[in-house]
Amino acid sequence: MVKTLSEQSHAGIHRLDTYVPGKPIADLKRELGLDSIIKLASNENPLGTAPAALAALADFDGALYRYPDGSGFEMKTRIAQRHGVDTTQITLGNGSDDILELTARVFLGPGKNTVVSQHAFAVYPIVARAVNADVREVPALDSSADMPLGHDLDGMLAAIDEHTGVVFMASPNNPTGTWLSNTALEAFLERVPAATVVVLDQAYIEYQTVEAAPDIVAWLSRFPNLIVTRTFSKIYGMAALRFGYGLSSPEVADYLNRVRAPFNVNSVAMHCAAAAIGDTDFIKRSIASNDIERASLSSQLQARGFDCLPSQANFVTFDCGRESRPVFDALLREGVIVRALAGYGMPQHLRVTVGQPEENQRFLSALDKVTG
Ligand SMILES: *Cc1c(COP(=O)(O)O)cnc(C)c1O
Repeated sequence: MVKTLSEQSHAGIHRLDTYVPGKPIADLKRELGLDSIIKLASNENPLGTAPAALAALADFDGALYRYPDGSGFEMKTRIAQRHGVDTTQITLGNGSDDILELTARVFLGPGKNTVVSQHAFAVYPIVARAVNADVREVPALDSSADMPLGHDLDGMLAAIDEHTGVVFMASPNNPTGTWLSNTALEAFLERVPAATVVVLDQAYIEYQTVEAAPDIVAWLSRFPNLIVTRTFSKIYGMAALRFGYGLSSPEVADYLNRVRAPFNVNSVAMHCAAAAIGDTDFIKRSIASNDIERASLSSQLQARGFDCLPSQANFVTFDCGRESRPVFDALLREGVIVRALAGYGMPQHLRVTVGQPEENQRFLSALDKVTG
């Protein structure tokens, strides 16, 4: 006989760690009474929001009393055009996290497991445990590997068994910034069993400059178990609006859409995203600025003796050479918010979002002050 609410809630809930977001600027203002704060903690676009999205926001017709278009017709049409896929391959999400959650609800559950890498995105274990599935965390490559702390694809393949419903992976990965080559990813997809779903999270793909993005359309037709996720929270600068999507085979999209809440994406987000998707000028500027500043930030950190992980994202993750939490706290007192990574099994690392040049300079000066 179940007696308590704790017993009533399933075992996965009790293995679940609540997601800790980057510290909001307003919190730090309140706590320390600081005026000038820079936040380089959540990989937001330092150039702000795509101008086309802001213009669309200004001319939104104001029909907030109406339900959104639950089928997302206009947005799906644009996404289909952009990628050259069919609208039946698209699932719209309230952020791409929503797609991760839908995937877990469809393909995971008690008795199932998900395979993820060590130092992968924190949301993967959360969505898996939320449906009472097991999480199999595969050790990352070691610090001396060609891709230090990157995903060990052979190790991940070896961890898959007949109960593995989903493999979650991001390339470029958060919080390491490491990436997987197109060849390695393709070889991986060829070897994953057909009944195991692979989620390829491309939240940072626009920032990858070392190699062109993989031809996901070709992969989607070859691999019916593939789900590619994209977000408007990062390079499009629309994190507050919550919009992302998944691309997959029509069969998988059908399953995801069955469990999707009927009005999961709001009208304002879809209206703005429909405009932002065509703002190629902003995307180009964002990539160019990130590319220069990422290299500069990494080399300035290296010059100070901090080991940086290779990054193809819009952040740099570096080793403080000691426990990073006190450095994080000291930076906060200087009005600089970065991300401490103890929760990701990286107690000596900090992750700093690539900001505008003056933000990066201010971060480096604060770092000099607190570590000097
Ligand atoms: C930021 C991020 C996302 C995006 O989440 P949204 O829900 O779309 O805001 C997804 N995956 C990874 C790895 C991220 O870092």
